[in-house]
Amino acid sequence: MSEGGTLKLSDDLFVVRIREEANVVAQTGADGVLLVDGGSAGGSDALMKAVSGLPGVGPVRTIFNTHWHPEQTGSNERLGKAGATVIAHENTRLWLTQNVTWPWDGRRFARLPKIAQPNKTFYTTGKLDSGVRYGYIPDAAHTDGDLYVFFPKQNVLAVGDAVSGQGWPEVDWWTGGWIGGIVGGLQRLQTLADADTRIVPARGPVLGLADLKAQYIYDRLTQLLNKGRGPGEAVEARPAKEFDDKMGNPDVFVRRAFESLWAYLSPDA
Ligand SMILES: [Zn+2]
Repeated sequence: MSEGGTLKLSDDLFVVRIREEANVVAQTGADGVLLVDGGSAGGSDALMKAVSGLPGVGPVRTIFNTHWHPEQTGSNERLGKAGATVIAHENTRLWLTQNVTWPWDGRRFARLPKIAQPNKTFYTTGKLDSGVRYGYIPDAAHTDGDLYVFFPKQNVLAVGDAVSGQGWPEVDWWTGGWIGGIVGGLQRLQTLADADTRIVPARGPVLGLADLKAQYIYDRLTQLLNKGRGPGEAVEARPAKEFDDKMGNPDVFVRRAFESLWAYLSPDA
């Protein structure tokens, strides 16, 4: 989550930050605005106001959902009603058609009305007429519907929560994410990026290729977690203690990450 403010990446590409909301990438152009994610429903008014203040702006014609979480899909309803194309991986659409309850904290998410659900879905990759490319990140670091959006002209890669830009990753194993997917996702995204690519995660600052490489620590953490016998024991073992100073208390991450291994290795349990 972030302080407010708009960051200009190029003449037609911006990171729009509304206080306490996830990052949104906005591309302006003659054909209207393209958004990557739409903030939460509560932040949608402020987001639309900020977007309408961008230079060269028109109506929002296209929005990507990097995954189903409400921090990303809160503008779907208004934009769907306005006739925008809402693009997501098919798994993301499926999660948005049903009620979801997280077992770790009981948080409940109501399914979205039909008009708010993604109306253009895909399985592998796609390309817009503008040259913008997008694709599935099947490693499922965060959910089983994670996608990236790549802007080749500006060399900007939006990655949602598949890469954590701030603090420990949040692995949503209830909807298909798992700790073992983090490094695979990083490797996959790295093949799309070069030394100059600016990588925009859902949370935190804009990253570079070196930041992705630094996150390979999750490979070792996964190995350590694999040796644990239960989530409590995994937390007790403090596998991430050397990162506490930089990243903050890892206990919630470790517990969730361990549970994600369990869910992944025994899907019927
Ligand atoms: Zn998320």
